[in-house]
Amino acid sequence: MGRPLRVAVVGAGPAGIYTVDALIKSGAEVSVDLFERMPAPFGLIRYGVAPDHPRIKGIVDALHRVLDKPGVRLFGNIDYGGDVKLDELRQFYDAVVFATGAVTDRPLDIPGVDLAGSHGAADFVSWYDGHPDVARSWPLTARSVAVLGAGNVALDVARVLAKSAEELLVTEIPDNVHAGLAASAVTDVHVFGRRGPAQARFTPLELRELDHSPTVEVIVDPEDIEFDEGSIAAIRASKQVDMVVKTLQEWAIRDVGTRPRRLHLHFFHSPTAILGAGGHVTGLRTERTELTGDGSVRGTGVFHDWDVQAVYRAVGYLSSHLADLPFDHVSGTVPHAQGRVLDMDDALVPARTCRAGSSAARSASSATPRAARRRRSPRCSPTPPPCAPPSTPSPPPSSASSTTAASSSPPGRAGRTSTRTSGPWVPRTAASGSRSSTAPR
Ligand SMILES: Cc1cc2nc3c(=O)[nH]c(=O)nc-3n(C[C@H](O)[C@H](O)[C@H](O)COP(=O)(O)OP(=O)(O)OC[C@H]3O[C@@H](n4cnc5c(N)ncnc54)[C@H](O)[C@@H]3O)c2cc1C
Repeated sequence: MGRPLRVAVVGAGPAGIYTVDALIKSGAEVSVDLFERMPAPFGLIRYGVAPDHPRIKGIVDALHRVLDKPGVRLFGNIDYGGDVKLDELRQFYDAVVFATGAVTDRPLDIPGVDLAGSHGAADFVSWYDGHPDVARSWPLTARSVAVLGAGNVALDVARVLAKSAEELLVTEIPDNVHAGLAASAVTDVHVFGRRGPAQARFTPLELRELDHSPTVEVIVDPEDIEFDEGSIAAIRASKQVDMVVKTLQEWAIRDVGTRPRRLHLHFFHSPTAILGAGGHVTGLRTERTELTGDGSVRGTGVFHDWDVQAVYRAVGYLSSHLADLPFDHVSGTVPHAQGRVLDMDDALVPARTCRAGSSAARSASSATPRAARRRRSPRCSPTPPPCAPPSTPSPPPSSASSTTAASSSPPGRAGRTSTRTSGPWVPRTAASGSRSSTAPR
């Protein structure tokens, strides 16, 4: 009888952990080691999802149950590329799966972006979710704030900025964040989308949730409710888009109430510059856009200056280049064919280096066009050979094995997290992990 397959999974967010679950349920005899750069697992579920989304945060219960399964070990505080390298992992494991997600803000190249008061959403989100790498205080002196982006991350940022700190007290919000938000001077939060209501990336539930706060008046300008043929086709094609549009239309025609803070949703405004004086944000310049017929927009040459003292950029998250792996800097993805990592010279990275959330079907749809072209190449086998175990069993990497031995008092940076219960659950797909870069959520 052979020994179990040994698999290393890098990144203990939902994609990494769902990958572990899929491996365990595959029926193969397998042992899996998860390597996570943070001291604790769960990635953006812990450090991205807003504190007032407890239902999503609750996913950690299911993820915990996977980590508790026999044959699964989690090594926290291990940074792939720094603490452990690809050749070390490949020496001791039959397969290496990368599930490192996307944690940095996609850049926005407009003048003034480096002014004090111009923030990436990822930093602010990390602050309110208590990320250990982020300073404990956050400057919340602005009365009027701009949030750039028309996705759910923009809604999260706008909602957390606009809500009263008291409303967040029922959540797991850290004390320093509650104190910071309680002292906030904000009265108006302006969210700007480049395109129209039918092109917004909001999901209906998250959009409607904005209107639930007793302290926040949500305001939509009726002039921003415009559609072209492309928009109408998008509304007809998607129930989600239809629901979002209906909600926005409803808000645009109702009377504005008297709640103390206002959250304005603006469409057809493309940010062109962040304005400043004395090194600090004093405004935002946007160009009015118009629909072209197919749902895209062009500039009209009409500019507006908005009196804001802080700007938050929520224009998408981007994954980082991982050491020793190829990386497509344009799409922010690891080139792969059906999950198997490709190198930049069209050759397969020799054996068994995979991206999480990439079953054949999912990868086929999520691969970059370049990777898709490679898939057709005879050198890229669409059905890779199974991972064959090496002839002799290997120990885990030295940094990890020493950690394992000292699970309750970890030496140095390394620590092991393990718990011990199990129970049946139905996993979501790991599709989230197959995307390395995200448009505004
Ligand atoms: C602000 C925000 C709010 C969100 N809110 C919601 C929501 O309300 N509902 C919802 O369904 N989804 C939400 N999402 C989306 C959800 O969080 C992601 O889809 C999901 O977390 C992606 O999972 P992942 O495992 O691919 O990546 P991640 O969750 O990012 O996990 C990747 C893991 O890899 C680790 N890692 C990275 N680099 C290394 C390295 N070099 N070595 C070792 N480990 C490494 C990271 O520390 C992290 O733990 C939100 C996302 C964001 C950004």
